[in-house]
Amino acid sequence: MDAREQLRRFLEQRREAGETELVFDRLSVDEAMRALGAAPREARNQRPEAGGSEPNVHPEPKSVPSGGADWRAVLKDAGAVPSEKVGRYAMPAPPATTENSQASTSLEQVPSGIVVGGAGKELFAKGTPFSTLTELVTAVATCTLCPLHRDAKNPVPGEGNPNAGFMCVGEAPGATEDELGRPFVGQAGQLLDKILAAIKLARSDVYICNVLKHRPPGNRNPMPDEVQACSPYLLRQIELIQPRVIVAFGTFAAQTLLNTREGIGKLRGKIHRFYGVPLVVTYHPAALLRNPAWKRPAWDDVQLARKLLDRANRN
Ligand code: URA
Repeated sequence: MDAREQLRRFLEQRREAGETELVFDRLSVDEAMRALGAAPREARNQRPEAGGSEPNVHPEPKSVPSGGADWRAVLKDAGAVPSEKVGRYAMPAPPATTENSQASTSLEQVPSGIVVGGAGKELFAKGTPFSTLTELVTAVATCTLCPLHRDAKNPVPGEGNPNAGFMCVGEAPGATEDELGRPFVGQAGQLLDKILAAIKLARSDVYICNVLKHRPPGNRNPMPDEVQACSPYLLRQIELIQPRVIVAFGTFAAQTLLNTREGIGKLRGKIHRFYGVPLVVTYHPAALLRNPAWKRPAWDDVQLARKLLDRANRN
């Protein structure tokens, strides 16, 4: 498969996953697709009526010379230019807003997102059998509400500052977390530590947990019944901690908390509300390890979360 085809397939996957921006630094998915001669997203969204066939949205590009040595050559051939400052690729005249946008954006300019629950604190008033985090952790340790406990080595209830203003929610424990009974302690966890340090937060400042408290075998995606069984723990953790900002790391945590099927590309860059608590969505650290180009938008996201924390701490 030549580099252009490989790049096209990669971009198509990103687009299907809901990504729209900053795939190659300043180059958006649609810009890169257009450079390759593929139809823009709007055309793709015009699906045929039932019974019709999917339009061919990827005609062979006419204006793009074939056979670059790698994706950089393909993009260069297609008109993207390396930025002299950072040595990365960008289409000519990129929109001014994409570079380090959060640093200069005030919170008032950030669009509002999905609202789950009322603006008040009704979630915090419902109550469950656990009156403390310690009780909750004990309950998770003997939980048999879904089959995941059978294969798991250890429960991973979550850990951190019980009075944290900043709460991180991930998907589910991986192998290292399962081994140690602690959230985010593998490779992704080490990156999370660095992300937190970059916004001047130590692990001891925050509370870290996952949607699921036991590892799905082979790190497969969580199943709906597992999420349903485990969700009361997460909700009660939020109730007990009463964070001032929640960061959902990855599609799964975001979609679960916000009760949506919307892709992460649409969910990030907004201030959502979870029972009145501002909630920011960003890429999962494991995804950042696979796609370093997402680190910059993730940096924007955590800066946004930090600003929300600072504002809440001032009030
Ligand atoms: N990925 C997660 O979502 N959570 C962890 O605890 C580790 C990896």
